[in-house]
Amino acid sequence: MTADAPWMRAARSAGLVDLDGTVRPTIFAEMSALAAEHGSVNLGQGFPDDDGPIEVLDAAVDAIRSGQNQYPPGRGTARLRTAIAEHQQRWYDIDVDAHREVLVTAGATEAIAASLLALAGPGDDVVTLEPYYDSYAAIIGLSGARHVTIAVHGPDFQPDPAAIDAAITDRTRVVLLNSPHNPTGSVLAAEHIDRIVAAAQRHDAVIVSDEVYEHLVFDGQPHVPVASHPGAASRTLTISSAAKTFNVTGWKIGWITGPADLVEASLAVKQFLTYVNGSPFQDAVAIGLELSRERFEAHTATLQRRRDLLAAGLTDAGFAVSHAAGSYFIVAEGDPLGLGDGAATARALAVDPGVVGIPLRAFGRADGAVSRTALRFAFCKPDEVLLEGVRRLRSLQA
Ligand code: PMP
Repeated sequence: MTADAPWMRAARSAGLVDLDGTVRPTIFAEMSALAAEHGSVNLGQGFPDDDGPIEVLDAAVDAIRSGQNQYPPGRGTARLRTAIAEHQQRWYDIDVDAHREVLVTAGATEAIAASLLALAGPGDDVVTLEPYYDSYAAIIGLSGARHVTIAVHGPDFQPDPAAIDAAITDRTRVVLLNSPHNPTGSVLAAEHIDRIVAAAQRHDAVIVSDEVYEHLVFDGQPHVPVASHPGAASRTLTISSAAKTFNVTGWKIGWITGPADLVEASLAVKQFLTYVNGSPFQDAVAIGLELSRERFEAHTATLQRRRDLLAAGLTDAGFAVSHAAGSYFIVAEGDPLGLGDGAATARALAVDPGVVGIPLRAFGRADGAVSRTALRFAFCKPDEVLLEGVRRLRSLQA
């Protein structure tokens, strides 16, 4: 097994290879194991415990019972592609051709993999914010491209304009954005998006915009897709997923929308990664996308209330909490146990008082500029779970 085998490159890019070449499990696996061992409240991994809209669940059951169990069309069912196009029109006034400009994927994860593997390779740069969602670094590593980052720091986690201009160059093939942002909960300010679009235009780069938290923007603010910024649509692939909008992370139904040629390129890779996926779930997700605006807003309001609940508890426990403008996540800065290191704090908190968070550093490079002490906590959990987590966190101050 050679050190430069593609899987090693992916693991190394994701920061999972020790100096002696040992490949470690991810911090998520380690923290979930600690949570199970100690009966901790698990606010580590970002998945909801409660089910989403009953119509959506029923539609999937009916689809299985009525024989929608074979390969769907390669681009996804016509019903779902039409619902995705209509959703873009209804929410954002973006015109998407359901036949040529939509591709259904195995979650946003495959959408990210297919688009990046289609567009970037050795000799190219792929630019992301740092910290970043953990699959980005691994896929960029697999593609053979170089990963260039734009650091974002608390408490607002917005990029520095000069860093945007420095990162995006003629080598840049793809700028991979994510807003609302995992892991920081920030929403990229419009002026920064405009600057990134201008740089992408100057250097002829494609923008891949991961907007899986599009329906989790809080405080009455609208989600503004990158593709709706002036000059962006013709070079932007937008990625989303049913996972966070309908609480169905296990269904793995995601999608890409954007210019036909870029969607086509992603399809060329997707067809050999999974070919197709999730047949009975696709039309069920279409029913979700067609739900009333009130239903989406109720979901947003629930998550916003849970954000506030967790933020208050973390503040009482002695953390400085960043404002999560969107997503499932909140960043808690500080060092209440005096350990000086986020990973050590996360491990200690998992045991006593028994609350699991993820060190923010896990979402960046070992030598990157991500805070060494901050932790990421997920608030996409039922109220009783959050209340118990908060009760335990408050005991730190006792
Ligand atoms: N992108 C981001 C920013 C995410 O947070 C997640 C899920 N944690 C994904 C992509 C993956 O989405 P899916 O489950 O649809 O593959």
